[in-house]
Amino acid sequence: MKPTSEERREVARRLRDEGLYASLMPRDQFFRWMFDVVDSPKTVASMTMHLADLIEPDPERTCRAEVLRCREDDGSQSACLVCSECGEKLRYREAAADDGEPDYELLPYCAGCGARVEGAGE
Ligand SMILES: [Zn+2]
Repeated sequence: MKPTSEERREVARRLRDEGLYASLMPRDQFFRWMFDVVDSPKTVASMTMHLADLIEPDPERTCRAEVLRCREDDGSQSACLVCSECGEKLRYREAAADDGEPDYELLPYCAGCGARVEGAGE
């Protein structure tokens, strides 16, 4: 679940206010304190994942264009670009060309999974 700004501020406040004493805590007490501050299930992995979500609430999912041999509607085969995350064939749009010839660029987001395609036009 995406953390709220209020939750993020409360965790930051506790880390700043109570963190001064963290260096005095025995290791097991430190982890109990961190589980309480971050309000996560009691495993280190879930606590660190929740902390990462608090720091960067909505990381942008990205994918890369990968070249595959694709079958066209007429049965022929040609090279095409597919999403590295879901395998969807990536789509193009007409782009401004400087030499007068029609030019194409990848759409910025995959139509299959919604990830932003690295290196595609905005
Ligand atoms: Zn995709």
